Amino acid sequence: MRRGIFILGLLALAGLVGMSGWLGGTSSLGQPPKPFLIVVDAGHGGEDTGAIGLAGLIEKNLVLDIVRLIQIKALNEPKLKVWLTRQEDKYIAPKDRIALANAQKADLYISVHANYASDPFVRGIETLIHESASAASKAWAQALQQKLIEETSAKNRGVKSAPLYLRDAQMPAALVEVGFVTNPEEANNLQQLTYQTAIAEAILAAAKDFLKIE
Ligand SMILES: [Zn+2]
Repeated sequence: MRRGIFILGLLALAGLVGMSGWLGGTSSLGQPPKPFLIVVDAGHGGEDTGAIGLAGLIEKNLVLDIVRLIQIKALNEPKLKVWLTRQEDKYIAPKDRIALANAQKADLYISVHANYASDPFVRGIETLIHESASAASKAWAQALQQKLIEETSAKNRGVKSAPLYLRDAQMPAALVEVGFVTNPEEANNLQQLTYQTAIAEAILAAAKDFLKIE
């Protein structure tokens, strides 16, 4: 009889394990699947204004607006959790942003920036990765770049490698330059909520594709 109960217990356990597998979770028994964590960084902050553009457009404020939209949009995504490196106008050293993402064991890292050129005709979106980036970071950057171009119809400047602080990230990591604050058309677009929303949605869609979230 005791053995019978033991076997029943094993069967119940196997059932639970099976169910957890079916739900696609990697979490412990009886827990709902853990959402993926994406760390979203608004570049610059505080005394570090980033690029100063046309019509008073300031990079540090623009990118903060965009990452807040990403966070709001992600509330509709139960399988995705967004964590912002900064929620306010304050400076954080780049290496500390990466250290925070590593400590959180994030699944993805994205830093949002806007670009600057002395030539007002220069425009477009580009995604940067560290020059010795992993294949996963390259794939993440490609996914981001493609979605951003699809959603905004901006000029495609491609994925580029640069000597960036992203080197120490322990997860796929990329930096997007969402447009030139020095180009009249893009500076105007970047101040529109609809355009900022398109950028936020493209970034979330790229994350979902990359993480294979339906
Ligand atoms: Zn920047």
